[in-house]
Order: sequence, then structure tokens, then C-alpha cells
Amino acid sequence: MIAPAGDSVSPWAAASRPRPVVLALGSNLGDRIANLRLGIEALEGGAIALTAVSGVFETTPVGGPEQDNYLNVVVLAVSSLPARQVLERCAAAESAAGRVRTVRWGPRTLDVDIITCDDETYDEPDLTVPHPRAHERAFVLAPWLDVEPSAVLPGQGRVADLLAALPAAGAWRRPDLRLALPARGGSGPAGSGAQAGNSLPAGGAAAGGAAGTEGAAPCT
Ligand code: ADP
Ligand code: MG
Repeated sequence: MIAPAGDSVSPWAAASRPRPVVLALGSNLGDRIANLRLGIEALEGGAIALTAVSGVFETTPVGGPEQDNYLNVVVLAVSSLPARQVLERCAAAESAAGRVRTVRWGPRTLDVDIITCDDETYDEPDLTVPHPRAHERAFVLAPWLDVEPSAVLPGQGRVADLLAALPAAGAWRRPDLRLALPARGGSGPAGSGAQAGNSLPAGGAAAGGAAGTEGAAPCT
């Protein structure tokens, strides 16, 4: 179906202009920081441009079977893709990091979730946007606040307030670990092409800047 020209509420119209997208990445299997880096590299390019990467947070697992802690980051991006195609890119990024789906909410090399896709809303089993559980997940809110202090989760409120209402113990910063924006186009390793000037202003503090390096602490 072709939407009428000038229909500003049409998803076609919404998808034709670059819009802000918030993505949450997590890994608790294998080389966690390497998996996050692979995911970031895979997301960049092809109508998705990453603009900022949060600091790295270690978090305790929520739900599912007993499993190891996660490393989590939130990335800010702009994209002209509709949310469904962004979801496909998230799945491709998960595959790039070798994700195999076994137990739901079980350990995974990489999980990439859409938290918000501008003002798009979906309420379907395979795509719910804004993410229905983001407001209660410190592993999303802590890195999101880090990269965008003024962030608001539509329908829920300010990310700072939502995080403040959660137990503090579930997520803590890993200052020894850092990920940076990949080279534009996704062709280079994350960290080699850090674009400090490309970060959203609100997230400048934690966006990929100079280093994009890992600290000495082992992280597997
Ligand atoms: P979870 O992310 O909840 O831990 P999975 O990564 O296994 O679990 O995702 C299960 C399904 O959730 C995916 O196949 C995807 O279609 C669906 N899904 C629904 N909404 C979203 C969203 N906002 N972001 C990512 N996946 C989503
Ligand atoms: Mg997921």
C-alpha cells in the first residue's frame, strides 16, 4: 500500500527522514567486550549512523536461568529505517557476534534491543517499541543515562528518575573498559575511527572519544 503524499503520520513518511534511535546491547557469553564491539561495528552503516556509545556497565542478570553477569552499553544512532528494518539489523549484529538462540533469556554472546525508534510505536510479539521492559532494567537505564543525561523514555518518564527508583546494586560502571564509535560505514574496528565530534551533545561525556580501548582487567 502506498501512503498518500504528505501524510505525516504514515510510517512511510516517518521512515524517510533520519530519526533518533536508542539501542541497548548486552553480552554475557564468551569474550563479552569483543562481542559488544562486533555488534557496534555491525550496526554502523547502511542507513544507520551511530552517534554515541555509552560507558560500559557490568550488570547482574535479570530473569532466565542462572547465568553470568553481563556487560551492557547503550548506543545512540540516527536512521531513516523503519523500526522493523532496524530490528533486522539488530538480529544481524547478534549473528555477527555468533548468537545462537537456545533458552529464552539465557546466556547470549550478544543481545541487541531497540529501546526507542523516534516516536514509532509497535505492540506486536516480535516488535514492541518503546521496549516494554526498559523502564525497569538498570542494565538499559544506567548506560542510557550515561550517554544521554536528559533522556526520556516515552510513556515512562525521565531515565534519571526511572533509574533512581531501582536498586543500585544491579549495574555498575566498568571504567577499565571502553568502546568507541566505529569508523563511519562500519569498515574499521571500533575504536580506530572514534568520532568525538559526532557524538550527540547530551551524551558527550561517555561517547567514543580518544581511546576506545579496553583496560587491563580480563573480561571474558
Ligand atoms: P530479550 O531481548 O527479551 O532478552 P530475545 O533477544 O531473545 O529476548 O528477543 C526475543 C524477541 O523479542 C526477538 O525475536 C524480537 O522479535 C522480539 N522483540 C520485541 N520487541 C523487541 C525490541 N524492542 N527489540 C528487540 N527485540 C524485540
Ligand atoms: Mg533481545
